[in-house]
Amino acid sequence: MSANIHKKNEPSSLPFKGQGGVILAGAGPGDPELLTIKTLRYLRIADVVIADRLVSDVILDEYTRKEALILSVGKQSGKDGSTPQSVINELLVDYARQGKLVVRLKGGDVSIFSNVLDELQTLTEHKINYEIIPGVTAALGAAAYAGIPLTARGYSTAVRFLTCYQQDTLTPAYWQELAGTSDTLVFYMSSAPLDEMIDKLLEQGIGKDKWLAVIEQATTQQQCVHHGPIHEYLLAHRGMTYTSPTLIIIGKVAALHQSFQWLPNSQSKEPYFKPIGSDSLKNLIYADRA
Ligand code: SAH
Repeated sequence: MSANIHKKNEPSSLPFKGQGGVILAGAGPGDPELLTIKTLRYLRIADVVIADRLVSDVILDEYTRKEALILSVGKQSGKDGSTPQSVINELLVDYARQGKLVVRLKGGDVSIFSNVLDELQTLTEHKINYEIIPGVTAALGAAAYAGIPLTARGYSTAVRFLTCYQQDTLTPAYWQELAGTSDTLVFYMSSAPLDEMIDKLLEQGIGKDKWLAVIEQATTQQQCVHHGPIHEYLLAHRGMTYTSPTLIIIGKVAALHQSFQWLPNSQSKEPYFKPIGSDSLKNLIYADRA
């Protein structure tokens, strides 16, 4: 059995019997070494890599073939230059139809707060071969690199992945439930409305034993953690702007950062991931066909 596994992992073994197809893969949250071996193996043979903004340049520069076409199709909230989903869908179909092995590389995990559903629907509609490979989602990367065990025994028995991205749709009953739960809450894409979010949780009577950790640029050299009891956090941090991407952890477990921090905070505010519109990639070839 081990012989089979070994054979499968040889770089020369092509997926889809050598026909075109798309590997939907997660690149992990930042640190390039958090990529899975399976995704690495596919990157090394890919003809085309279509990458999101939150994918490390190191992965694109060092883990792909020199001949590979690297397309950056990033999206960033409120930024011009974001690539429409319809264009991404078209690129996937066009290259796969040409017989190319396409790796669609997304930040973190493929399925968490992503547009993978659109892409899967497009691929099945067009009868394109595909595989899905998971990645380390930002919540898990940030928690590990901040020394916060998300469901530490005696602290929390569950963890929820949430977003406040469209917070107008969240009702007071929803906030009340969040304020009352002992589950660990992890918020993606929510640093902009953080102050209002904390105000709402305080209004709904969130417990004094709850802590908050805000992790900027998790798992990168620029990682920085801001933390404190949720009742005190805004005294020091109201109005603060955070460097993207930022993840928020709320719950009793967030206090464990004080005991188990192992990575010193970076003093640099330099963005690890280049903002949309920059041309940092080695081979940025993006034709606006919208
Ligand atoms: N699919 C991704 C999430 C995409 S949504 C995943 O599984 O991680 C983008 C949001 O993820 C960001 O706004 C931020 O909240 C979070 N995020 C992604 N990478 C991050 C990082 N290195 N540090 C902190 N937050 C991150």
